[in-house]
Amino acid sequence: MSYALVVAEVRRGVFEERNLDAIGLCALMEKDISLLVTDNNNEMNQNPPSSPFGKEGLGGFSGEKLVNTIIKVKIEEALFLNPLNMVGVVKTMMDSKGKPDVIVFTHSSSGTELASYVAGYFDLPLITDVNGFDKERDVFFKSYYSDKIFGEFRKAAQGPFVITVRSGSFKEYAVEKTTPPVIETIEDFPIAEGRNFMEYVEEEKAEIDITKAEFLLSVGRGIGNKDEIPDYEKLADLLKATLSGSRPVIDKMWLPKARQVGTSGKTVKPKVYLAMGISGAFQHIAGMKDSDCIIAVNKDPEAPIFQYAHFGIIADIHKVRDKLLEVLKG
Ligand SMILES: Cc1cc2nc3c(=O)[nH]c(=O)nc-3n(C[C@H](O)[C@H](O)[C@H](O)COP(=O)(O)OP(=O)(O)OC[C@H]3O[C@@H](n4cnc5c(N)ncnc54)[C@H](O)[C@@H]3O)c2cc1C
Repeated sequence: MSYALVVAEVRRGVFEERNLDAIGLCALMEKDISLLVTDNNNEMNQNPPSSPFGKEGLGGFSGEKLVNTIIKVKIEEALFLNPLNMVGVVKTMMDSKGKPDVIVFTHSSSGTELASYVAGYFDLPLITDVNGFDKERDVFFKSYYSDKIFGEFRKAAQGPFVITVRSGSFKEYAVEKTTPPVIETIEDFPIAEGRNFMEYVEEEKAEIDITKAEFLLSVGRGIGNKDEIPDYEKLADLLKATLSGSRPVIDKMWLPKARQVGTSGKTVKPKVYLAMGISGAFQHIAGMKDSDCIIAVNKDPEAPIFQYAHFGIIADIHKVRDKLLEVLKG
């Protein structure tokens, strides 16, 4: 039977929200969905879930109902994330269940590693970072250069292929099925040697939690240099906002890491997200696009962030900042 295989990313027993995008794409493709997930009862998980979707389910879904089949793999989480083991798991599964139409991974650092390894090992076509799908034309989309150029991909040959899915692209299509999933188990597969998981390294305790802020003033490379930061801090104070930034601002050490918004920083959902001098690369957008109200200030009318902003101001950010400081100081 034709089916899509979604390889779930689970970290310390927590089912990552980005899995919903992989499931959502498969639902959009109208596939029967099998979810491959580590059976998480092991000592490495500080938070072992009662289901693969975590203790509470996820985002109001009773998560299990989003898929047709859950295939529990009797393997520790860290070993599951090892691509040398993943090929063994996928092979065992294909031997017993037949080849899937498509194997879907998250587009995270581990998802891309696993996907490329599986595609290489089984000699399958691979489309990475998919963020759109046209069902009529059977075409997948991905974007380049901060969403300025879009590429279209169609499978050229019969047989399975591999996809990684961009976080935040298809979540809304992950809907509950009418029947509970079938539960299957895989336990006999080769465990690879020569590559071991060592430990999870905790990030340093942050002086502030930007995920809790109701109003974020976020600055990007457009501010120009570190000397501008104090004036944006003043503006944040007057607006009763918390200052955050895009990755270049953090990489240049203009702001601490804890204040980074985006895929390699924090995902935020404030009531107001005011982005100043931020272009809107997808890695940034993925971290803030669910904010209630997005206001973008940028001198480039073509900046991708305007595609996501509820309000946009095409202007020099420093002039807007100075005007706001003047007005707010009274
Ligand atoms: C694996 C990976 C992970 C990543 N993770 C993240 C992440 O977590 N968060 C993140 O933000 N990025 C992340 N990035 C980087 C991302 O791809 C972009 O490079 C980054 O978001 C760009 O930051 P920016 O918008 O501040 O800078 P730029 O793209 O350089 O944009 C600066 C903007 O400022 C505008 N500007 C300049 N001067 C002015 C002015 N005076 N007035 C008004 N506008 C002005 C410009 O028009 C431009 O649009 C990641 C990249 C990779 C490869």
